[in-house]
Amino acid sequence: MKVAQIGSGTPEVAVVAGIHGDEPCGVRAVERLLDERPTVERPVKLIVANEKALERQVRFVDEDLNRAFPGDPDAKTHEGQLAHRLVEELEGCLTFSMHSTQSHAEPFAIVNGVNETAEEIVPQLPVTAMVETSNFAEGRLFSEIDTVEVECGMQGSETAAQNADRLTRAFLTAVGALPGDTMYNDLPVYRLTDVIRKQEADTYEVFVDNFAEVEAGESFAAADGDEQVADESFYPVLMSSNGYRDVFGYAAEKLDVLTAPPAAD
Ligand SMILES: [Zn+2]
Repeated sequence: MKVAQIGSGTPEVAVVAGIHGDEPCGVRAVERLLDERPTVERPVKLIVANEKALERQVRFVDEDLNRAFPGDPDAKTHEGQLAHRLVEELEGCLTFSMHSTQSHAEPFAIVNGVNETAEEIVPQLPVTAMVETSNFAEGRLFSEIDTVEVECGMQGSETAAQNADRLTRAFLTAVGALPGDTMYNDLPVYRLTDVIRKQEADTYEVFVDNFAEVEAGESFAAADGDEQVADESFYPVLMSSNGYRDVFGYAAEKLDVLTAPPAAD
């Protein structure tokens, strides 16, 4: 794990990249900040988490780090120990953690609850949606640390790396670490309700777009040509044919649309 800081004092804000080793976009954003060392109005802690997995270009070495929190100093796995050290480093910091997907190119935010922090910060980020995943929080970083996660785009793409950079700067501006103003966006909010499992098969297909409502009776995915039909309407989130080993993705409900506050004159 690499830990660095820009600005002096004890940081209450942190940026974390590389929770997953096959998602290099955030690492680029952190390295760029370290190269440029912008003048900050609050100190910021910068972390590249799973360096061992990043070196090997794999999601994890022993187990998924974002299912391993709170971790344990005596854990038998690399990620179990790393989770514990990461929690120690991030204690007391509002944390921004970057990921990328195989399912959706447009950046969106993931939060553990639609609390005051999420409502204040996330509409100032260049994201198209906020997804609340409290039903599936177990083992994730934000079960331990106040965290806003962002999905920056498609894994390994140049666009995801550029998005990671823009998102990080918007976050650091929103929390007052970087000078300047942010733009508020109207933001639809979704809550994950169910896991959409997939049976073992050779070929998987997904017929629907993420965040576009699937109607009851609609066929939304197939495993070896065997179609899965929606019992009731839902919004697909993180759905992809080959993103995860045993699930297509998640079903969500749409909760709300956060609207931008009126602009001050
Ligand atoms: Zn990830």
